[in-house]
Amino acid sequence: MFDRASVVTPGGVNSPVRAFRAVGGTPRFMVSGTGPYLTDADGREYVDLVCSWGPMILGHSHPEVIAAVQEAVSRGTSFGTPGEGEVALAEEIVARIAPVEQVRLVSSGTEATMSAIRLARGFTGRSKVVKFAGCYHGHVDALLAAAGSGLATFGLPDTPGVTGATARDTVVLPYNDLDAVRAAFAAYPGEIACVITEASPGNMGVVPPADGFNAGLKELCAANGALYISDEVMTGFRTSKAGWYGVDGVSPDLMTFGKVMGGGFPAAAFGGRADVMAHLAPAGPVYQAGTLSGNPVATAAGLAQLRLLDDAAYAKIDAVSAELRSLVGDAFTKEGVAHTVSSASNMFSVFFTDEPVRNYDDAKKQEAFRFTAFFHSMLEQGVYLPPSAFESWFVSTAHDERAVERIAAALPAAARAASEATA
Ligand code: PLP
Repeated sequence: MFDRASVVTPGGVNSPVRAFRAVGGTPRFMVSGTGPYLTDADGREYVDLVCSWGPMILGHSHPEVIAAVQEAVSRGTSFGTPGEGEVALAEEIVARIAPVEQVRLVSSGTEATMSAIRLARGFTGRSKVVKFAGCYHGHVDALLAAAGSGLATFGLPDTPGVTGATARDTVVLPYNDLDAVRAAFAAYPGEIACVITEASPGNMGVVPPADGFNAGLKELCAANGALYISDEVMTGFRTSKAGWYGVDGVSPDLMTFGKVMGGGFPAAAFGGRADVMAHLAPAGPVYQAGTLSGNPVATAAGLAQLRLLDDAAYAKIDAVSAELRSLVGDAFTKEGVAHTVSSASNMFSVFFTDEPVRNYDDAKKQEAFRFTAFFHSMLEQGVYLPPSAFESWFVSTAHDERAVERIAAALPAAARAASEATA
């Protein structure tokens, strides 16, 4: 299947990390998912610790989500008009997350962050965007610039196809460094439209914000007339009922969401202060649109999933995550492998170093070759991990004792493989 895919699709995949380039080997083609398990085209079953990179927080094929989708599909799949489902999903988001007074639905996290920074630029009349090295906000041109961490250096494009002009409006700073943010505001007075950050980063591995970092960002933005955008595409509705906002209580001006809120379908959103959102077309002059935005099937799936995510669901996910973190840590300790199990609420990942990891530079110092050996051993034993040492692991309410036991049984040999690996 991968050979077939490679003929008609660049690299054989529709999103690069799926190709296993960071760990080598052939990606598994999945044909079905039930609860915490995925089954591949050769009929092998895996305990899934990727959960579609976050969305499948209730596990695969949750009966109530499937029923909601089937009911919605039976009424038609897209109308290109307003519909009640999108209103209900927006109401659910607004009810859960206090700083979101109004919300606009889109189809991907990339669209959400792209639209949020356009709105911030339109609202402030400024052009520069501050982002942090190691934070991923989708493949938005302006947000792919992730050049060195010099505070006054202009960003350089990280990929061909992003022009220097776009990258020059992006200022890339080291994560967890408020002094660098202060210095950027001093270097570009009146030019910075917004600071965008992952609410708690999961795209350089899991690197939570230091105490007071998000609050400091908010303060600096407010003092300098810039908007504070919290990207909760990954953390939203996962790290608590109200996402990372529910954990640290810092109110952003704008927020972005995706993944969990789509219930496994393409649905995402951005929202925040009503006076800022009022600048969005057709209420205001900043243009933004989408043929499939608020799609009735996607919104039905997202709404069904969010309604099932009550306090008990989060307690369950948090408990499974804690149990796995302890099992994983013990396995590496037993084999004498230097490691840090880093977590933010129920998101976690392993860094192969025992030095503190506070930013992307720290994360890159880990012995990532050990992850490759660990990953393949786990895969061979039927546990599907994210195929990169720089990604969060995700669990769901469906990860029961049987699934945890299967992971526990695979860990000793995989930790040994990590300990024996050479660069
Ligand atoms: N923002 C964050 C924090 C993400 O983790 C991602 C995707 O992983 C995105 C934005 C982009 O979302 P999408 O892949 O739906 O475009």
